[in-house]
Amino acid sequence: MNLEEIGEFGLIKKVKPLCFIRKKNIIKGIGDDCAVYEIDKENAALLTTDMLVENVHFLRNKITPYDLGYKTMAVNLSDISSMGGRPSDAFLSIAIPGDITVEYLEELYEGMMFLGMKYNVNILGGDTTSSKTGLVLNIALTGVIGKDNILYRGSAQSGDKIYVNGYLGESAAGLDILLKDIDLNYKLKSHLIKCHNMPEVYIDEGIFLSESGLVNACIDLSDGISSDLLHICEESTCGAVIYEDKLPVSKELQEYTKSTGKNPEEIILSGGEDYKLLFTVKKDYSGQLEKDYFEKFGQKIICVGEIIEGDQIILKQKNGKERNIKPTGWDHFSSGT
Ligand code: ADP
Ligand code: MG
Repeated sequence: MNLEEIGEFGLIKKVKPLCFIRKKNIIKGIGDDCAVYEIDKENAALLTTDMLVENVHFLRNKITPYDLGYKTMAVNLSDISSMGGRPSDAFLSIAIPGDITVEYLEELYEGMMFLGMKYNVNILGGDTTSSKTGLVLNIALTGVIGKDNILYRGSAQSGDKIYVNGYLGESAAGLDILLKDIDLNYKLKSHLIKCHNMPEVYIDEGIFLSESGLVNACIDLSDGISSDLLHICEESTCGAVIYEDKLPVSKELQEYTKSTGKNPEEIILSGGEDYKLLFTVKKDYSGQLEKDYFEKFGQKIICVGEIIEGDQIILKQKNGKERNIKPTGWDHFSSGT
Protein backbone atom coordinates (compact mmCIF):
# COMPACT_ATOMS: atom_id res chain seq x y z
CA MET A 1 0.00 0.00 0.00
CA ASN A 2 1.25 3.44 -0.87
CA LEU A 3 1.33 6.07 1.87
CA GLU A 4 -0.58 8.31 -0.50
CA GLU A 5 -3.62 6.05 -0.18
CA ILE A 6 -4.06 6.63 3.57
CA GLY A 7 -2.22 9.92 4.05
CA GLU A 8 -0.29 11.16 7.09
CA PHE A 9 -3.25 10.88 9.45
CA GLY A 10 -4.32 7.47 8.12
CA LEU A 11 -0.81 6.23 8.91
CA ILE A 12 -0.95 7.61 12.45
CA LYS A 13 -4.34 5.91 12.98
CA LYS A 14 -2.89 2.62 11.69
CA VAL A 15 0.15 2.59 13.98
CA LYS A 16 -1.68 3.92 17.05
CA PRO A 17 -2.88 0.49 18.32
CA LEU A 18 0.68 -0.84 18.07
CA CYS A 19 2.10 1.98 20.18
CA PHE A 20 0.19 1.89 23.44
CA ILE A 21 1.10 -0.97 25.77
CA ARG A 22 1.11 0.58 29.28
CA LYS A 23 -1.65 2.78 30.72
CA LYS A 24 -0.01 3.69 34.03
CA ASN A 25 0.50 7.46 34.42
CA ILE A 26 -0.58 8.23 30.85
CA ILE A 27 -3.50 10.63 30.59
CA LYS A 28 -3.32 11.12 26.80
CA GLY A 29 -1.21 9.43 24.14
CA ILE A 30 -1.39 9.77 20.37
CA GLY A 31 -4.16 12.02 19.06
CA ASP A 32 -3.64 15.44 20.58
CA ASP A 33 -1.12 18.26 20.25
CA CYS A 34 0.85 16.91 23.22
CA ALA A 35 1.00 13.68 25.14
CA VAL A 36 -0.08 14.12 28.76
CA TYR A 37 1.43 12.33 31.79
CA GLU A 38 0.33 12.41 35.38
CA ILE A 39 2.88 14.05 37.71
CA ASP A 40 0.89 14.19 40.94
CA LYS A 41 -2.67 14.76 42.13
CA GLU A 42 -2.88 18.26 40.70
CA ASN A 43 -0.38 18.45 37.86
CA ALA A 44 0.37 16.86 34.52
CA ALA A 45 3.40 16.96 32.24
CA LEU A 46 3.08 17.69 28.52
CA LEU A 47 5.41 16.40 25.82
CA THR A 48 5.42 17.30 22.15
CA THR A 49 7.84 16.92 19.28
CA ASP A 50 7.94 18.60 15.88
CA MET A 51 10.45 18.31 13.08
CA LEU A 52 11.49 20.71 10.31
CA VAL A 53 13.09 19.13 7.24
CA GLU A 54 14.95 21.06 4.56
CA ASN A 55 13.10 21.15 1.22
CA VAL A 56 9.94 19.88 2.92
CA HIS A 57 9.31 22.56 5.57
CA PHE A 58 11.82 25.18 4.51
CA LEU A 59 14.21 26.19 1.77
CA ARG A 60 17.57 27.11 3.22
CA ASN A 61 18.04 30.04 0.86
CA LYS A 62 14.64 31.52 1.85
CA ILE A 63 15.05 31.71 5.62
CA THR A 64 17.89 33.00 7.80
CA PRO A 65 19.38 30.57 10.31
CA TYR A 66 18.14 32.82 13.13
CA ASP A 67 14.56 32.73 11.82
CA LEU A 68 14.79 28.97 11.25
CA GLY A 69 15.89 28.47 14.85
CA TYR A 70 13.05 30.72 16.01
CA LYS A 71 10.53 28.76 13.93
CA THR A 72 11.74 25.35 15.15
CA MET A 73 11.13 26.44 18.74
CA ALA A 74 7.90 28.31 17.87
CA VAL A 75 6.14 25.32 16.30
CA ASN A 76 6.82 23.22 19.38
CA LEU A 77 5.77 25.97 21.80
CA SER A 78 2.59 26.26 19.76
CA ASP A 79 1.62 22.67 20.61
CA ILE A 80 2.16 23.35 24.32
CA SER A 81 0.04 26.54 24.05
CA SER A 82 -2.81 24.65 22.41
CA MET A 83 -3.11 22.40 25.49
CA GLY A 84 -3.06 25.50 27.71
CA GLY A 85 0.32 24.56 29.22
CA ARG A 86 3.48 26.28 30.36
CA PRO A 87 6.63 25.13 28.54
CA SER A 88 9.54 23.69 30.54
CA ASP A 89 12.57 22.32 28.66
CA ALA A 90 13.60 21.38 25.13
CA PHE A 91 15.82 18.79 23.48
CA LEU A 92 17.17 19.51 20.00
CA SER A 93 18.18 16.77 17.58
CA ILE A 94 19.88 17.94 14.44
CA ALA A 95 21.16 16.28 11.25
CA ILE A 96 23.68 18.57 9.58
CA PRO A 97 24.76 18.48 5.93
CA GLY A 98 28.43 19.15 5.09
CA ASP A 99 27.97 22.67 3.76
CA ILE A 100 26.60 24.16 7.00
CA THR A 101 29.02 26.37 8.95
CA VAL A 102 29.51 26.72 12.69
CA GLU A 103 28.40 30.35 12.39
CA TYR A 104 25.15 29.19 10.74
CA LEU A 105 24.48 26.85 13.67
CA GLU A 106 25.30 29.50 16.26
CA GLU A 107 22.75 31.83 14.68
CA LEU A 108 20.23 28.98 14.62
CA TYR A 109 20.66 28.46 18.37
CA GLU A 110 20.34 32.21 18.94
CA GLY A 111 16.98 32.16 17.14
CA MET A 112 15.79 29.20 19.20
CA MET A 113 16.95 30.75 22.44
CA PHE A 114 15.27 34.09 21.68
CA LEU A 115 12.06 32.20 22.39
CA GLY A 116 13.80 30.04 24.99
CA MET A 117 14.61 33.17 26.98
CA LYS A 118 11.17 34.67 26.45
CA TYR A 119 9.46 31.59 27.86
CA ASN A 120 12.17 30.39 30.26
CA VAL A 121 12.86 27.22 28.27
CA ASN A 122 16.27 25.50 28.50
CA ILE A 123 17.66 23.27 25.84
CA LEU A 124 18.70 20.35 28.03
CA GLY A 125 20.14 18.05 25.40
CA GLY A 126 19.58 16.50 22.01
CA ASP A 127 21.45 14.55 19.38
CA THR A 128 23.81 15.56 16.59
CA THR A 129 24.52 13.69 13.40
CA SER A 130 25.70 14.39 9.87
CA SER A 131 23.19 14.38 7.04
CA LYS A 132 23.77 13.13 3.50
CA THR A 133 20.76 15.14 2.32
CA GLY A 134 19.26 18.25 3.92
CA LEU A 135 19.27 19.92 7.31
CA VAL A 136 16.85 18.28 9.76
CA LEU A 137 15.80 19.91 13.03
CA ASN A 138 13.71 18.20 15.66
CA ILE A 139 12.73 19.62 19.03
CA ALA A 140 11.07 17.68 21.80
CA LEU A 141 9.53 20.05 24.33
CA THR A 142 8.10 19.41 27.77
CA GLY A 143 5.54 21.48 29.63
CA VAL A 144 3.39 21.50 32.75
CA ILE A 145 -0.28 22.14 33.39
CA GLY A 146 -2.86 21.78 36.15
CA LYS A 147 -4.75 18.55 35.48
CA ASP A 148 -8.14 20.26 35.54
CA ASN A 149 -7.14 22.88 32.99
CA ILE A 150 -5.93 20.73 30.08
CA LEU A 151 -7.43 21.73 26.73
CA TYR A 152 -7.96 18.68 24.53
CA ARG A 153 -9.00 18.40 20.91
CA GLY A 154 -11.71 15.95 21.90
CA SER A 155 -13.93 17.90 24.29
CA ALA A 156 -15.92 20.17 21.97
CA GLN A 157 -19.69 20.17 22.63
CA SER A 158 -22.54 20.81 20.28
CA GLY A 159 -23.52 24.49 20.63
CA ASP A 160 -19.95 25.69 21.37
CA LYS A 161 -18.83 28.75 19.44
CA ILE A 162 -15.65 28.27 17.40
CA TYR A 163 -12.98 30.95 17.80
CA VAL A 164 -9.55 31.84 16.46
CA ASN A 165 -7.22 34.33 18.10
CA GLY A 166 -5.95 36.26 15.10
CA TYR A 167 -5.72 36.72 11.35
CA LEU A 168 -5.32 33.59 9.23
CA GLY A 169 -3.86 32.75 5.83
CA GLU A 170 -0.96 35.17 6.08
CA SER A 171 1.64 32.44 6.50
CA ALA A 172 0.42 30.67 3.35
CA ALA A 173 0.61 33.96 1.48
CA GLY A 174 4.17 34.49 2.77
CA LEU A 175 5.14 31.02 1.58
CA ASP A 176 3.65 31.69 -1.85
CA ILE A 177 5.66 34.92 -2.08
CA LEU A 178 8.85 33.09 -1.11
CA LEU A 179 8.31 30.23 -3.55
CA LYS A 180 7.30 32.32 -6.54
CA ASP A 181 9.34 35.47 -5.85
CA ILE A 182 6.12 37.46 -6.19
CA ASP A 183 6.80 41.14 -6.60
CA LEU A 184 4.78 43.18 -4.10
CA ASN A 185 5.61 46.30 -2.13
CA TYR A 186 8.39 45.75 0.39
CA LYS A 187 6.33 46.36 3.53
CA LEU A 188 3.58 43.95 2.49
CA LYS A 189 6.06 41.29 1.42
CA SER A 190 8.09 41.47 4.61
CA HIS A 191 4.97 41.32 6.79
CA LEU A 192 3.63 38.17 5.07
CA ILE A 193 7.04 36.48 4.91
CA LYS A 194 7.53 37.21 8.61
CA CYS A 195 4.16 35.57 9.36
CA HIS A 196 5.51 32.46 7.61
CA ASN A 197 9.07 32.41 8.92
CA MET A 198 8.52 33.74 12.43
CA PRO A 199 5.00 32.86 13.63
CA GLU A 200 3.88 34.40 16.90
CA VAL A 201 3.64 32.18 19.94
CA TYR A 202 0.61 32.30 22.25
CA ILE A 203 1.70 30.68 25.51
CA ASP A 204 0.14 33.29 27.81
CA GLU A 205 -3.03 33.27 25.73
CA GLY A 206 -3.24 29.44 25.93
CA ILE A 207 -2.80 29.54 29.71
CA PHE A 208 -5.46 32.23 29.97
CA LEU A 209 -7.92 30.18 27.89
CA SER A 210 -7.21 27.01 29.88
CA GLU A 211 -7.67 28.79 33.21
CA SER A 212 -10.84 30.59 32.10
CA GLY A 213 -12.91 27.43 32.46
CA LEU A 214 -14.93 28.60 29.44
CA VAL A 215 -13.06 26.75 26.69
CA ASN A 216 -13.97 23.16 25.84
CA ALA A 217 -11.51 22.21 23.06
CA CYS A 218 -8.42 23.66 21.46
CA ILE A 219 -5.88 22.93 18.73
CA ASP A 220 -3.14 25.02 17.16
CA LEU A 221 -3.57 25.82 13.47
CA SER A 222 -0.60 24.10 11.87
CA ASP A 223 -2.31 22.60 8.81
CA GLY A 224 -5.15 25.02 7.98
CA ILE A 225 -8.68 25.31 9.45
CA SER A 226 -10.18 22.70 7.12
CA SER A 227 -7.78 20.06 8.47
CA ASP A 228 -7.36 21.20 12.05
CA LEU A 229 -11.08 21.70 12.72
CA LEU A 230 -11.59 18.18 11.38
CA HIS A 231 -9.22 16.92 14.11
CA ILE A 232 -11.38 18.64 16.74
CA CYS A 233 -14.57 17.24 15.16
CA GLU A 234 -13.22 13.70 14.81
CA GLU A 235 -11.84 13.60 18.34
CA SER A 236 -15.00 15.19 19.78
CA THR A 237 -17.45 13.23 17.57
CA CYS A 238 -19.20 16.32 16.33
CA GLY A 239 -19.64 18.49 13.26
CA ALA A 240 -19.16 22.20 12.69
CA VAL A 241 -20.43 25.17 10.75
CA ILE A 242 -18.00 27.84 9.57
CA TYR A 243 -19.21 31.25 8.41
CA GLU A 244 -17.18 32.36 5.42
CA ASP A 245 -17.90 36.04 6.08
CA LYS A 246 -16.50 35.76 9.62
CA LEU A 247 -13.09 34.38 8.62
CA PRO A 248 -10.53 36.99 9.69
CA VAL A 249 -8.82 38.46 6.62
CA SER A 250 -6.08 40.98 7.41
CA LYS A 251 -5.64 44.04 5.22
CA GLU A 252 -2.29 42.58 4.17
CA LEU A 253 -3.89 39.31 3.03
CA GLN A 254 -6.55 41.33 1.24
CA GLU A 255 -3.87 43.33 -0.56
CA TYR A 256 -1.97 40.18 -1.51
CA THR A 257 -5.08 38.46 -2.87
CA LYS A 258 -6.02 41.56 -4.86
CA SER A 259 -2.60 41.54 -6.53
CA THR A 260 -2.56 37.78 -7.15
CA GLY A 261 -6.23 37.24 -8.04
CA LYS A 262 -6.67 34.68 -5.26
CA ASN A 263 -9.54 34.16 -2.86
CA PRO A 264 -8.59 35.04 0.74
CA GLU A 265 -11.12 32.67 2.32
CA GLU A 266 -9.81 29.73 0.26
CA ILE A 267 -6.29 30.52 1.46
CA ILE A 268 -7.51 30.67 5.05
CA LEU A 269 -9.32 27.33 4.85
CA SER A 270 -6.46 25.38 3.31
CA GLY A 271 -3.35 27.39 4.15
CA GLY A 272 -1.12 25.99 6.86
CA GLU A 273 1.34 27.22 9.46
CA ASP A 274 -0.63 30.10 10.93
CA TYR A 275 -0.01 28.71 14.43
CA LYS A 276 -2.97 30.62 15.85
CA LEU A 277 -5.23 28.90 18.37
CA LEU A 278 -8.55 27.43 17.22
CA PHE A 279 -10.81 26.79 20.21
CA THR A 280 -14.41 26.15 21.13
CA VAL A 281 -16.15 28.19 23.81
CA LYS A 282 -19.01 27.03 26.01
CA LYS A 283 -22.43 28.09 24.84
CA ASP A 284 -23.56 31.37 26.46
CA TYR A 285 -20.05 32.32 27.66
CA SER A 286 -18.52 33.56 24.42
CA GLY A 287 -19.35 37.23 25.07
CA GLN A 288 -17.71 37.07 28.48
CA LEU A 289 -14.57 35.41 27.11
CA GLU A 290 -14.33 37.93 24.26
CA LYS A 291 -14.42 40.74 26.79
CA ASP A 292 -11.98 39.15 29.27
CA TYR A 293 -9.49 38.24 26.52
CA PHE A 294 -9.56 41.74 25.09
CA GLU A 295 -9.07 43.28 28.53
CA LYS A 296 -6.07 41.02 29.18
CA PHE A 297 -4.31 41.04 25.80
CA GLY A 298 -5.70 44.05 23.93
CA GLN A 299 -6.46 41.68 21.03
CA LYS A 300 -9.77 40.34 19.78
CA ILE A 301 -10.73 36.70 19.51
CA ILE A 302 -12.89 36.05 16.47
CA CYS A 303 -15.95 33.79 16.32
CA VAL A 304 -15.84 31.91 13.00
CA GLY A 305 -18.47 29.23 13.53
CA GLU A 306 -20.28 26.81 15.77
CA ILE A 307 -20.02 23.16 16.78
CA ILE A 308 -23.04 21.09 15.73
CA GLU A 309 -24.15 17.50 16.05
CA GLY A 310 -23.23 15.04 13.29
CA ASP A 311 -19.96 14.62 11.46
CA GLN A 312 -20.09 17.23 8.71
CA ILE A 313 -18.10 20.43 8.49
CA ILE A 314 -20.26 22.92 6.62
CA LEU A 315 -19.18 26.22 5.16
CA LYS A 316 -21.92 28.88 5.07
CA GLN A 317 -20.73 30.81 2.06
CA LYS A 318 -21.05 34.53 1.53
CA ASN A 319 -23.51 33.87 -1.29
CA GLY A 320 -25.88 32.21 1.18
CA LYS A 321 -25.21 28.67 -0.09
CA GLU A 322 -23.74 25.88 2.00
CA ARG A 323 -21.04 23.41 1.06
CA ASN A 324 -19.20 20.67 2.87
CA ILE A 325 -15.60 21.38 3.68
CA LYS A 326 -13.13 18.62 2.96
CA PRO A 327 -9.73 18.73 4.63
CA THR A 328 -7.59 20.59 2.11
CA GLY A 329 -4.83 21.49 4.53
CA TRP A 330 -1.36 20.06 4.62
CA ASP A 331 -0.89 16.27 4.58
CA HIS A 332 2.63 15.00 4.02
CA PHE A 333 1.61 12.07 1.83
CA SER A 334 -1.62 13.16 0.22
CA SER A 335 -1.75 13.59 -3.53
CA GLY A 336 -3.63 16.83 -2.93
CA THR A 337 -7.01 15.47 -3.94
P1 ADP B 1 0.71 18.48 15.45
O1 ADP B 1 0.40 19.00 14.06
O2 ADP B 1 -0.08 19.12 16.52
O3 ADP B 1 2.19 18.44 15.74
P2 ADP B 1 0.37 15.93 14.30
O4 ADP B 1 -0.76 16.12 13.36
O5 ADP B 1 1.77 15.98 13.78
O6 ADP B 1 0.23 16.98 15.49
O7 ADP B 1 0.20 14.57 15.06
C1 ADP B 1 -1.05 14.12 15.53
C2 ADP B 1 -0.84 13.11 16.63
O8 ADP B 1 -0.14 11.97 16.13
C3 ADP B 1 0.01 13.63 17.78
O9 ADP B 1 -0.51 13.09 18.98
C4 ADP B 1 1.39 13.06 17.47
O10 ADP B 1 2.17 12.91 18.64
C5 ADP B 1 1.05 11.72 16.85
N1 ADP B 1 2.07 11.24 15.90
C6 ADP B 1 2.55 11.93 14.81
N2 ADP B 1 3.45 11.18 14.13
C7 ADP B 1 3.56 10.00 14.81
C8 ADP B 1 4.31 8.81 14.62
N3 ADP B 1 5.13 8.68 13.59
N4 ADP B 1 4.15 7.78 15.49
C9 ADP B 1 3.30 7.90 16.55
N5 ADP B 1 2.55 9.00 16.79
C10 ADP B 1 2.66 10.03 15.93
MG1 MG C 1 -0.56 21.00 16.95
